[in-house]
Amino acid sequence: MAQTDVIVVGAGMAGLVAAVRAQQLGAKVTLLEKGPAPGGSLGLSGGTLWCARTVDDLRRLVPRGHPTLGPRLVEDFPGGVEWLRSLGAVLTPLDSKPDRFVYLMDPNPGVFIAGLIATFVEGGGTLLTETSAVSLRINDAGSITGVTVRPGDGARYELDAPVVILASGGFLANPELKARYFGRWSDRLIVRGNPHSTGDGWAMAQAIGAGSSAAMSSFYGHLMPAPPARVPTNDFIAYTQYHSEKGVLVNREGVRFTDESLGDETNAQAVAQQNEAVGYLIFDDAVYREFAVREGGKGARASDTFFESQALGAPAATANSLEELAQAMQPHGLYAPGLIATLSAYNDAVTAGAAAHLPIPRRDLTYPVTNPPFYALGVTPGVTFTLGGLPINEDAQVLDRSGHPLPGLYAAGADAGGIHNEQYAGGLCLGLVFGRRAAQHAFGG
Ligand SMILES: Cc1cc2nc3c(=O)[nH]c(=O)nc-3n(C[C@H](O)[C@H](O)[C@H](O)COP(=O)(O)OP(=O)(O)OC[C@H]3O[C@@H](n4cnc5c(N)ncnc54)[C@H](O)[C@@H]3O)c2cc1C
Repeated sequence: MAQTDVIVVGAGMAGLVAAVRAQQLGAKVTLLEKGPAPGGSLGLSGGTLWCARTVDDLRRLVPRGHPTLGPRLVEDFPGGVEWLRSLGAVLTPLDSKPDRFVYLMDPNPGVFIAGLIATFVEGGGTLLTETSAVSLRINDAGSITGVTVRPGDGARYELDAPVVILASGGFLANPELKARYFGRWSDRLIVRGNPHSTGDGWAMAQAIGAGSSAAMSSFYGHLMPAPPARVPTNDFIAYTQYHSEKGVLVNREGVRFTDESLGDETNAQAVAQQNEAVGYLIFDDAVYREFAVREGGKGARASDTFFESQALGAPAATANSLEELAQAMQPHGLYAPGLIATLSAYNDAVTAGAAAHLPIPRRDLTYPVTNPPFYALGVTPGVTFTLGGLPINEDAQVLDRSGHPLPGLYAAGADAGGIHNEQYAGGLCLGLVFGRRAAQHAFGG
C-alpha cells in the first residue's frame, strides 16, 4: 500500500492540469498513465487551445450544451490561460473568429506536455507510466479510499488516497460503449485520437454508482478518408476533411442526408448513421483549390487532403463532368444515377438562391459544384473524443444516479460529459477548466 493525497488517472490535458494544480495547492500527487508516455490525445492534437468568448457565443456554438457548466467554462478559461503561462507555457494568441479566444501551444503540444511534466516531477510528483487504474476503492460510507492499479505486464496492487481525479479521456476506443451509444455502424468508425482511452474512468465510476451525463450519443470528430485508407496515428490532421461543410455529402445511394454547412464535426456524426458509416464528399475545383489544399502552420503540416487521401487508398475519383465522376465512383459503392440527380437538384437550387428549401436544406456556404474538374472522396467519421460521460457539478465532482456527489471522486476532460452536446467548442479547454476546478475544490484553491 502506498499513501498519497490524490491519484490522477490519465496524463493528458485534464490530468496534467489537475496534477500540477493539486501539487501547487500542497497535495502529494500520484499521476497514472496507461500509455508509455504522458500526453494522450493532447499530444496528437493541433494544440489550439480555444474557448467561446462569451456565454452567448457558447450558446450559439453549442446550443444544446450544459446550462451551468458551459458558463463556468467561459468564465474560467482566461484565468486558466494565464495560469498555464505562469508555469512557463508559451500560448500564442491567434487571429480568429470574433466569437472565440484562440491560443496556439508554441511550438507544439509536445513542448507544452514536457513543460508540465517537468514542473510536476521537479515539484515532487510521482508519475507512473504504463500503469492503468483498473478500479476505484471506497469505504462503507462510499468515500474514495484509493484505486487498484495494474502496471503494463505486472500484478495488480493498491494505492491509497482520499481523492481520485478521473482524466482518462473518455471512451473513443471502447467498441462496446461505442456500439451502445453510436449505433449500428460504430465498428466502422475510425479512432481519431489516443487508443488508450477505452472508457476506464467511465467504467470505474459506474461500478460505484455514478450516473451518466447528457450527450451520450454525441462525439466530436471529423471526416477522414474511408478504408481501405489507414491514416497514420501521428498525422490525423493532414487527412482531416475540415472543408466538408463547403462540399456536398451523399450516402451510398447518392442522396444528401444533412445540412453540410453545419460543420465537419456535425457531418461526421451524420455520416456515422449512414449505411456502413460511409459518405462521399463531392466538390469542384474552386473548393478544392481554396479549401482542400492547405498550407502548413498553426500546428499542422501542409497537405493536399484529396490526393494524399487517394494515395492512402481511399475510394476517390476526379473527372471533367459530373456524369463521368458518378460513373467513376460507382465501383466504389456509390449509386451513380442517385448522385447525378442529387447534384443536379443541388446546383439548380443554389443557382436559384433556394438551397435552404431543398428537402435536406442547405442553409449556408452554398458553393455550387460547377467548376471542373470535379472531385469525389469516400469518407468515414473519426471519433476524436466522446461528448457524453460522467455527470459532474461545477466543482468537477462526479455525481451519482440521483445527482449527489460521490465523496472524493472528480472527473475532468473527456471523462466528464454533457458540457458540449452535438456541437463543439474546444476539447482542450474542458481539461484546462475542469481539471483546475477539481484540484481547487479538493485542495482549496
Ligand atoms: C488529431 C487531433 C487534433 C486535435 N486538435 C485539437 C485542437 O486543436 N484543439 C482542441 O481544443 N482540441 C483538440 N483535440 C482534442 C483534444 O486533444 C482532447 O479534447 C483532449 O486531449 C482531451 O483531454 P483529456 O485529458 O480528456 O484526454 P487525453 O488528453 O486523451 O488524455 C487521457 C489520458 O488518459 C490515459 N488513460 C486512459 N485510461 C487510463 C487508465 N485506466 N489509467 C491511466 N491512464 C489512462 C490515456 O493514455 C491518455 O494519456 C484534438 C485531438 C486530436 C486527436
